[in-house]
Amino acid sequence: MTEPSRPAAAPERAPQIRPATEGWTQARDTEGRPLLQFASPRRTQPETHLADLDLAGRKARAQELGVPAFRATQLSTHYFTRSTTDPALMTDLPAEGREELVAAMLPPLLTEVRRLRTDGGETIKFLWKLFDGALVESVLMRYPGRVTLCVSSQAGCGMNCPFCATGQAGLTRNLSAAEIVDQVVAANRAIQEGELGGCAPTAATTPRASRTSSSWAWGSRWPTTRGS
Ligand code: SF4
Repeated sequence: MTEPSRPAAAPERAPQIRPATEGWTQARDTEGRPLLQFASPRRTQPETHLADLDLAGRKARAQELGVPAFRATQLSTHYFTRSTTDPALMTDLPAEGREELVAAMLPPLLTEVRRLRTDGGETIKFLWKLFDGALVESVLMRYPGRVTLCVSSQAGCGMNCPFCATGQAGLTRNLSAAEIVDQVVAANRAIQEGELGGCAPTAATTPRASRTSSSWAWGSRWPTTRGS
């Protein structure tokens, strides 16, 4: 008769590792609940960009700069459709004063610090520096049948989650509308230039956005040659 086998001893549990910043303790209210920070402590924003304005506002801004209102529509097409801010490519604008007009309407908002790619290039992570030195990221991901972009809407985060390094740093500031949109335009530029692995996109895209606390995810469905 064989002895019944004993159950194996339960493995020792490894201690939980938390990304605790040295000396950081979670801010709590008098009842012990984590304090959330919704107000932006740093309120400075970058200079006004075309993407901060609706079309009427862009036309008014163009006229303030001494050019006809329709120049705002041309600039919008270059920026939103062609994903370019390069005056040399905007040959439908008069050469004289073009660079000054582009500098005023499309001031640079994001300085690229680093761009990381997975081996197949199907995920690209961008690290951006903003005008005040704050650092934010956006991540472009290729999936079968769609492309998703996560963009930052805040520098830091005020939700104070104890397990998260971003939460431990607190909220630096909210991004301007144009700083958020510019991440989308930069990602579109990367796609248009063929940087993203997988199949090339067509003109038909339908961006959809969903929000988490400090970032937005943009999804577009692309026709694809593989997967669903
Ligand atoms: S980034 Fe997400 S996990 Fe981190 S503190 Fe904010 S809400 Fe919490």
